[in-house]
Amino acid sequence: MSPDLRLRSAVLAGKAAATASRMLRRGGGTTIPGDVALAVDPRALGKLAAGLPGGVVLVTGTNGKTTTAGLITTALRSNGEQVLNNSSGANLLFGLCAAAVADADGAGRMRSRLAVFEVDELWLEQAVAELRPRVVVLLNLLRDQLDRSGELETTAAQVGRALRRLPPHAAIVANVDDPLVTAQCLDLPGLVPVGIDADDFLLPGLPHAADARACPRCGTALLFERVVLAHCGTYACPTGDFVRPQPATAVTAIGAPAIDALRLQLSDGAVVSAAVGGVYNAYNVLAAYAAVRALGIDPTRAAAGIGGFRPRFGRQERLRLFGREMRFLLAKNPAGFDEVLRTADELGDAAAYLIAINDRIADGRDVSWLWDVDFERLARSRRRPKVVAAGSRAHDLAVRLKYAGVDQQRVTVETDPERALRRLATTGDPASEAVVVPTYTAMLELRRVAERSGAASAFWSEPVGTPS
Ligand SMILES: [Zn+2]
Repeated sequence: MSPDLRLRSAVLAGKAAATASRMLRRGGGTTIPGDVALAVDPRALGKLAAGLPGGVVLVTGTNGKTTTAGLITTALRSNGEQVLNNSSGANLLFGLCAAAVADADGAGRMRSRLAVFEVDELWLEQAVAELRPRVVVLLNLLRDQLDRSGELETTAAQVGRALRRLPPHAAIVANVDDPLVTAQCLDLPGLVPVGIDADDFLLPGLPHAADARACPRCGTALLFERVVLAHCGTYACPTGDFVRPQPATAVTAIGAPAIDALRLQLSDGAVVSAAVGGVYNAYNVLAAYAAVRALGIDPTRAAAGIGGFRPRFGRQERLRLFGREMRFLLAKNPAGFDEVLRTADELGDAAAYLIAINDRIADGRDVSWLWDVDFERLARSRRRPKVVAAGSRAHDLAVRLKYAGVDQQRVTVETDPERALRRLATTGDPASEAVVVPTYTAMLELRRVAERSGAASAFWSEPVGTPS
């Protein structure tokens, strides 16, 4: 079989699988076409991507992939580009291939000009080999509850190997405020370092959830001049062998007018406003801006394009449920929880929370990570928020909240998703912000309740992997 015929068969088989999966309404419809296409032609993804004249952008890192890929895609589309992405969050190679198959016509020709893919860190090396991207965005390397001890360093080394395999002209937009990221890309020719030089919203010191406290070169404890979040900030090794590089583009001031809005002043003079909130999203917006600039779009158009983005599925999404406006803030690891709780408390004036902890495989079976989250914030908060503890591990959460010093009278345990949402709807001042903070599978369950009640549209094709 000639290579073209093989690719054509792979695309047709993938499309047939997509149709069948949609008709059967089977979850996983977002990756099955990719599985099938790759089974017919293992090189299908690379061959399809070679037909994209504008090339490929890959977005990777522990947290923020989905939002950052969305920001880049929106900015490019608003500048007239035909962009393909894996917006369902299916970020393993099969998911990327499924998105490419959907974009291709029956002859394997791509309709889009360019692709923006979020990709799981552990699949970056294969994605780089197949796709030969023009731009790679590396957001952060944080500990996930799915990691065991030492795995973060292994993941970092694997990301580093992938970056060293990039084509010579590829740009690496890297958040150098993360010392683990910096250690993997410091000497690479395509490095576009980005970081936060603003003094707004700094943490008083490294939080409990900070992973990388030691110099990657010599192991000495790093000194932090600024801590922005987790182990990200401005640091240096006291021995002088490792220093955070000066960003090519930095955020110099963070304005946060609301829980879901940012106004960033950048070192190149641009001002970028985005409809996403929280300091963690300042990194995502900055990285997206630098990536769009690396693709040749001028500062004014890049900023305007990013301004058109609206948040997605569970990430700062607002739904009206059981008579109450609720905001969903997905969190999937200690650093993520710290940041959404901080955003809800400092920027959102949240007085009622539903925190849902599940222990399914996509959430992590072991919930000991709850002890790394700064739930003490809820005890310190001047608004004295009320909390509905939900999910299959609601009782573990209630114990954690008790030890965090949250008044037990303010905590209700409710393991049933619908009853938990109904409880939140009537908790605290109805005019105050009600915030839902779920782990990944808990979000899917809560959202199913929202779909049944008509507040949200169905998202039956659940992505495989753990999108961030
Ligand atoms: Zn050192």
